[in-house]
Amino acid sequence: MSNNKLTTSWGSPVGDNQNSMTAGDRGPTLIQDVHLLEKLAHFNRERVPERVVHAKGAGAHGYFEVTNDLSKYTKANFLNEVGKRTPMFIRFSTVAGELGSADTVRDPRGFAVKFYTEEGNYDIVGNNTPVFFIRDAIKFPDFIHTQKRDPKTHLKNPTAVWDFWSHSPESLHQVSILMSDRGIPATLRHMHGFGSHTFKWVNKEGEAVWVKYHFKTEQGVKNLAVDTAAKLAGENPDYHTEDLFNAIEAGDFPAWTLYVQIMPVEDANTYRFDPFDVTKVWSQKDYPLIEVGRMVLNRNPENYFAEVEQATFSPGTFVPGVEASPDKMLQGRLFAYADAHRYRVGVNHNALPINRPQSPVNNYQRDGQMRFDGNGGGSVYYEPNSFSGPKESPEDKTSAFAVSGVADSVAYDHNDHYTQAGDLYRLLSEEERARLVENIVGAMKPVALEEIKLRQIGHFYKADPEYGTRIAEGLGLAVPEEVK
Ligand code: NDP
Repeated sequence: MSNNKLTTSWGSPVGDNQNSMTAGDRGPTLIQDVHLLEKLAHFNRERVPERVVHAKGAGAHGYFEVTNDLSKYTKANFLNEVGKRTPMFIRFSTVAGELGSADTVRDPRGFAVKFYTEEGNYDIVGNNTPVFFIRDAIKFPDFIHTQKRDPKTHLKNPTAVWDFWSHSPESLHQVSILMSDRGIPATLRHMHGFGSHTFKWVNKEGEAVWVKYHFKTEQGVKNLAVDTAAKLAGENPDYHTEDLFNAIEAGDFPAWTLYVQIMPVEDANTYRFDPFDVTKVWSQKDYPLIEVGRMVLNRNPENYFAEVEQATFSPGTFVPGVEASPDKMLQGRLFAYADAHRYRVGVNHNALPINRPQSPVNNYQRDGQMRFDGNGGGSVYYEPNSFSGPKESPEDKTSAFAVSGVADSVAYDHNDHYTQAGDLYRLLSEEERARLVENIVGAMKPVALEEIKLRQIGHFYKADPEYGTRIAEGLGLAVPEEVK
């Protein structure tokens, strides 16, 4: 049969793709036109559920090249040799909007990287900000409800947003970053990326350190002015998606330098901030950046749905040499991400071409919906066995670590919500501070209850009295006496 014949999905040639089969030339249409039925039925099912968060995204392929050998800290195979290149895929995204929403909104940007290493996939699933709004995953569904549409009006609800934040002062640091100039990046190429959480690196000797990831843009940080962003949101809602695609298509490959901060394990007990609290950074004066390598994006996806929409990232997709930390937000994400993919894409999402490791996958998992990869054929399907099935490698065991304490639901004991938000305010220029205050005042004005505004002003004031006072003035309110 000619390769160019139109066929049904079961491969049979189609005689007419423009006219459905009808009884007489005016119809009605016959149910025996199975090509029509299949075409319409498949169309009805073209969408998988959009991601609850990070629905709107843009992706690109590239490579990561090691420039500094850090094998004294990690046995991660893809980092152990200067010059070693590992293929990778990245997906950038906004967080709160739907699949068709505008790119140039004020929102954190997702920064999810998948490294196809020789020892399986490694995902760093971070944002363009070094911290997050909350530090315990149990608050995540409530937080996201406030970022999404109001159930009655189906509109964004600033009262809910600021009500939640004002009751969750740990959000102050991230709120300050979000409301600053960096809350609306000029393009996806002109922003940093961060792993955000603390992770554990383990070397060949089994020695561990704590680590944080920083991807610094080589294009320089650039942001959009508020009025430009608003105009673009109307004129070209896909502005960032288009910019990334066009830059790569034109051979102008964006790049990021990856740095890490390394903390000796014993420092975690005494450091002035809880290093596992994702609302905090580690000061770079205490833990300077160490270069690791370079990430270059040099290839656009061939097919958006197959590669970007079906890409699944999870902060629990580890390789030997990288492990979890006790960060409570990370611990929740270790479950939630993979669970979202099983629901959204299916239990065999890891077998799809974009997610499939480029190293061998050998295990005893079988079956499940949409098992399309041969399903292990006739090979042995249980363990232990006498048939030379794949065997565990004790040298790849997760490092042992001590745990202690009483099992209970307890808040973090480091409840300083204010120092680092204040440090950020103080490092801004006067022009940046003025825009930050203007952005916050504009965002808080529609809040329905004065009580919420006053509570939030108190948080800004505690971060820096000037910060809180300027916001209070902008809102025509006085800083509450009890926070002074
Ligand atoms: P440092 O002075 O050593 O570092 C300041 C950091 O802030 C640098 O990473 C700088 O890098 C970044 N920065 C500069 N201007 C802005 C801005 N307008 N908005 C956001 N980030 C900016 O100080 P510390 O490490 O002690 O941190 C001080 C404060 O800096 C923190 O409280 C935090 O808010 C912020 N920060 C800290 C980071 C960290 O990992 N320690 C990372 C990012 C921000 P660059 O200009 O290249 O982005």
